Amino acid sequence: MMMQYYNNKTLVYVDGDFIKATEASTDLYGQSLHYGYAAFEGIRAYKTHNGTRIFKAREHFERLKRSCALANIPFPWDTEQLMRDTYKLLELNKLKDAYIRPLVMCDPNMSLSAPAGVSIVICAWEWAAYFGDKLLSLAVSSYQRPNPKSAPVEAKLSAHYVNSILASTEAKARGFDDAILLDHHDKVAEAPNANIFIERDGKLYTPKTGNILPGITRRTVIELCRVLDIDVIEKELTAIELKNADSAFLCGTAAEIVGIHSVDSIVFPQNWNESIGAVIQRAYKNLVLEKVNYEVII
Ligand code: PMP
Repeated sequence: MMMQYYNNKTLVYVDGDFIKATEASTDLYGQSLHYGYAAFEGIRAYKTHNGTRIFKAREHFERLKRSCALANIPFPWDTEQLMRDTYKLLELNKLKDAYIRPLVMCDPNMSLSAPAGVSIVICAWEWAAYFGDKLLSLAVSSYQRPNPKSAPVEAKLSAHYVNSILASTEAKARGFDDAILLDHHDKVAEAPNANIFIERDGKLYTPKTGNILPGITRRTVIELCRVLDIDVIEKELTAIELKNADSAFLCGTAAEIVGIHSVDSIVFPQNWNESIGAVIQRAYKNLVLEKVNYEVII
């Protein structure tokens, strides 16, 4: 089913103005559309007892700025201003639980030269928090993550997402919920839109940065582990190590924290409810909802 992202009342943010989504347009002769030369973010806002709060807004806009820098895309905006404008966008659209999508597009130009100018668009739509107990069946993808020598993989660039779409589509066609991709050295990298953690002997492990998108949720999980006194080790992981784990979970802005049932039909032995992942899932939920988290405070 096609999701309804906007209606004839929806406003989008375009270069400082709030305009109707139905009246917004883009030039068809540009590098962003033709070559995927654009940077974006995926951000969530949650309805909390403190009102609607954008989770890690600063971190997301800072990553957008870094993505642009890594790809030679100009970023002439003030991130603090963008944060304020995003709150305004949510308010104008009366959104409480929402997904927020900023996109930096290059000015019309069909050549392969660096862009002279850019535009920023921010769209937002209703997206309820889930924190569900569904566990995922993943398949190791036949696709690898892009080689970091072919493009800056730490940048959230539109062009990278063809890789994510191919991997996800392949996994679903094979009857799995989603894919897990290896990097160009055949080490575990990440899912098409989430990072991965595995649990082994009471410790968490996650692929080190370098060949993955440095997820903001990944960073949040590491911070939660520090507070909860859980050992977390960032290192290269093989597919064998992944399959021999006691349990595992994905984490990302969209996915939140979601347990993994199996990889290539090899089922993780540990009961999810007794895993570190389940503890992190609860702690993450409390954090995004700005609830007092006794588990963290103790
Ligand atoms: N890896 C990839 C490839 C992603 O697209 C995402 C989603 N942005 C993530 C990891 C998770 O990042 P974050 O926690 O910042 O949403």
